[in-house]
Amino acid sequence: MGYHSGQIFEAELLVVIPQRSYGTRKKGWSESKLNRRLGNTEQRIASLNSTISTFGALERSEQVYSLNNIGDSGGAGYTTYNTDSGIIEINYTGDTGNFVHEVTHAGQFESGHLAFYSDGSPAGSDLYDEAAAYRAQYAYSDGGFQGIGVSGFSDLTTYWVKGVRNPKTGVPVYTKYGLLPININTSIGLMGIAYPHHNIPYYSYSPELKLRDWPGLIYKK
Ligand SMILES: [Zn+2]
Repeated sequence: MGYHSGQIFEAELLVVIPQRSYGTRKKGWSESKLNRRLGNTEQRIASLNSTISTFGALERSEQVYSLNNIGDSGGAGYTTYNTDSGIIEINYTGDTGNFVHEVTHAGQFESGHLAFYSDGSPAGSDLYDEAAAYRAQYAYSDGGFQGIGVSGFSDLTTYWVKGVRNPKTGVPVYTKYGLLPININTSIGLMGIAYPHHNIPYYSYSPELKLRDWPGLIYKK
């Protein structure tokens, strides 16, 4: 797969945490503050390990992924399926935290939490997948989370995701994302409830069938 940057990135992840915990000790913080910070650090380590596992899953996968640095002019990264090449394109802003975010979405494709309709548009995107991607991003770096109501992992809820706005346009980003956690085994009936504003005609399809049964759905088999 086209995934060469992963190796470099993995090495980067490994050096971040020790520096952080050393920093808290050096400052002579109170025990409770230190515990709080170390608790946070443990959560970050767990999340970063999970991100490293995702790299492994993507590297082993028969699905081809490509990494495209789109720079920061566009505002946000995104992950798409190229119907011509069959490649899942991870478009990140050049910021490593955003890269971790988008890689998390690629991992969600591997685990069946995310799929694509036959036109390449995402299927099964929901606020829970987004919260997970933001938590993975936050574990790598809290840069970019200042001033938007986030002071720890526990703030990165689905409710918070719903309020995220495009920093350039001010327009809420996730208004059409699923209100329920969706995966390829979710029934079409539940999809209709999770996406009340979606223009996909779920009602035209038997509600007991699963998302994976949707005609032409591209998902991890
Ligand atoms: Zn995302």
